Amino acid sequence: MISSADKFDAPAQVEDRIDLHMHSSCSDGRAEPAAVIAAAKEKDLKAVALTDHDTVSGLAEAMAAAEALGLAFVPGIEFSCYDDAGSTHLLGYFIDPGHVKLAEYLEGARRKRVARAARMVEKLGLLGVDISLEEVNSQVSASGLIARPHVARALVEGGWVKSYREAFDRFLAAGQPAYVPTWRISPGEGIGRIHEAGGLAVLAHGGKTHSDEAIRRLVGEGLDGLEILHPEHGPDEVGRLRRLAAEQELLETGGSDWHGPLDGRRGQLRSQPVPYEWYLRLREAAVAAKGAAG
Ligand SMILES: [Zn+2]
Ligand SMILES: [Zn+2]
Repeated sequence: MISSADKFDAPAQVEDRIDLHMHSSCSDGRAEPAAVIAAAKEKDLKAVALTDHDTVSGLAEAMAAAEALGLAFVPGIEFSCYDDAGSTHLLGYFIDPGHVKLAEYLEGARRKRVARAARMVEKLGLLGVDISLEEVNSQVSASGLIARPHVARALVEGGWVKSYREAFDRFLAAGQPAYVPTWRISPGEGIGRIHEAGGLAVLAHGGKTHSDEAIRRLVGEGLDGLEILHPEHGPDEVGRLRRLAAEQELLETGGSDWHGPLDGRRGQLRSQPVPYEWYLRLREAAVAAKGAAG
């Protein structure tokens, strides 16, 4: 029996798959941007987006690689935002990679992140954990942004903890002695930054973290779409988000949140049945938005 709710299920039997959520070594992924694109092509994906955390530094390389392989490419970013309700990740699609104000803003954010890492190292020193900022930096790829995972890896490498997990549990997680709060931008500001750079703002993996009401609030602040398909979303999340997308007339996106072949914590390429049509709709909306902005 076909019920009316079925249209909100995950798309079935999708042959032409896309992946609109992938990370390179420019943020916390393991593969260089060109290698991310090559891996996507290898998996026969039809369109891809590179969405590194808070940086556009991998986009030029990825775009050139995609063009060489004839793969449809979406320049993207993933912004980490916070407000009193907690953390919100926003995906920005079809942003202008050379947008000067965005570049300046991201550079300011990068400096604040370095200062934060230095504070963590300082706090660890006071606890008798003697690692240096250089040791942390050696965990960051050439163009990467320093963050807690790099401090955690330096702690493992230095023999201070046995595992990455333990580094967070004992020192780096909120409430632990070497925790330093992250520098925050609100979701509303994140949406504004994405729009200003010519992009569309999509709520990333909100299925388990954002209530209907929280999502409607983001829509009020200009949100353009919802990431429907993501490794953290089961059938319940997919159904709820698709209903909300229909109700609020939002774009639908999806991706694996790929961080590299050796990263088992998150999704693998091609794991999500994201249809090529979603890419076409996203592109159409981006063209319309840029036209409207004139
Ligand atoms: Zn995320
Ligand atoms: Zn991500």
